[in-house]
Amino acid sequence: MRIDLHTHSSASDGTDTPGDLVREAAAAGLDVVALTDHDAMSGWAEAREVADEVGITLVPGLEISTRFGHRGVHLLGYLPDPTDPSLALELDRILEGRTARTPAIVAALRAHGIDITEDDVRRESGGSVAAGRPHVADALARLGVVRDRTEAFATLLSPGQPGYVNRYASALEVMIPLVAAAGGVAVVAHPWGRGSRSVLSADTLATLKDLGLAGIEVDHQDHSEADRAELRGIAGELDLVVTGSSDHHGLGKVDHDLGVNTTDPEQYERLLSLAGNPLRG
Ligand code: AMP
Ligand code: FE
Ligand code: FE
Ligand code: ZN
Repeated sequence: MRIDLHTHSSASDGTDTPGDLVREAAAAGLDVVALTDHDAMSGWAEAREVADEVGITLVPGLEISTRFGHRGVHLLGYLPDPTDPSLALELDRILEGRTARTPAIVAALRAHGIDITEDDVRRESGGSVAAGRPHVADALARLGVVRDRTEAFATLLSPGQPGYVNRYASALEVMIPLVAAAGGVAVVAHPWGRGSRSVLSADTLATLKDLGLAGIEVDHQDHSEADRAELRGIAGELDLVVTGSSDHHGLGKVDHDLGVNTTDPEQYERLLSLAGNPLRG
C-alpha cells in the first residue's frame, strides 16, 4: 500500500490539473493520494471524480499558510468539513491576502526595472484562487528575466529581495484548533524544512499538540536523514502521527516526484481515525 499525503495541483501552484494529478498518482502506483493545495479546496471535486474513475483513494486536504511568531509555517489539514463557516472565513481572509499581494509584487518588480504586468502573472495562475509567488516566478521565466522558479525565488521573490511582499497568514495557534473543530486532522508540513528547525522545537510541538495538532510530516525532501530520525523520535514521545509525502508540484518543483516519500499504512489509518468526517469515495 503506497500512500502520498501532500500534493499540489493547478488549484494552487502545481502545474497539473487536479484530474491529471490524480491520474498520474494512479499511474505512479499509488493507492492513496491527498490533494493539499495551498489555502484552497477548489480542486477537490475534479480530483474526486477522477479518483473514482481510476480507482485510487483520494484524501481531500489543504496546506494552510500560517505564521508562528514572525515565521511562516505550513499546516496540512486533512478531511475538514469544507462548509465549516469559521474555517471558510479564515481561508477567505488568506486568499484575499494572496489576491492583494500580486499587484503589489508586480509594482515592486516594475519599480526595480522589470517590465512585468498583472496580466503576465494571471496567464500563469490561470483559474487558481490561490495566486502566489510561484506564478510570478513562472511569469518572470516566460519573460526571460530568470531561468526558472528556483532562480526567481533565489534572486527576486524572497524576504529582503526587490520583489518580496508580505501577505496575511493566520496564526498557527488559531488555525490548529480551527481545523480540528471543522473535523479535520492537523499535521505540520515539513516542520524543519528550509532552516525552520529552530521555530518548531520539541517543546513547541508539545504545546501545539495540546491545541489539537495530530501529526507532523517527517519524510519530506526538505528534511535530512538526521532530521527525519530526530523528528520521528519526537513524534514517538508526543504520540503524534508521522506522515511522509512528495509535496509534488508537477513541473513546479524538482526532486518532488509523486511517491518519492510515502506514509506508513498504520500511520495513515490512525490519521483517518482522527478525522471527524468519514472518508468518502
Ligand atoms: P507563496 O505561497 O505565494 O508565498 O509562495 C510560496 C510557495 O512557493 C511555497 O509554497 C512553495 O511551493 C514555493 N516555493 C518556495 N520556494 C521555492 C523555490 N525555491 N522554488 C520553487 N518553488 C518555491
Ligand atoms: Fe507550493
Ligand atoms: Fe509547504
Ligand atoms: Zn506543499
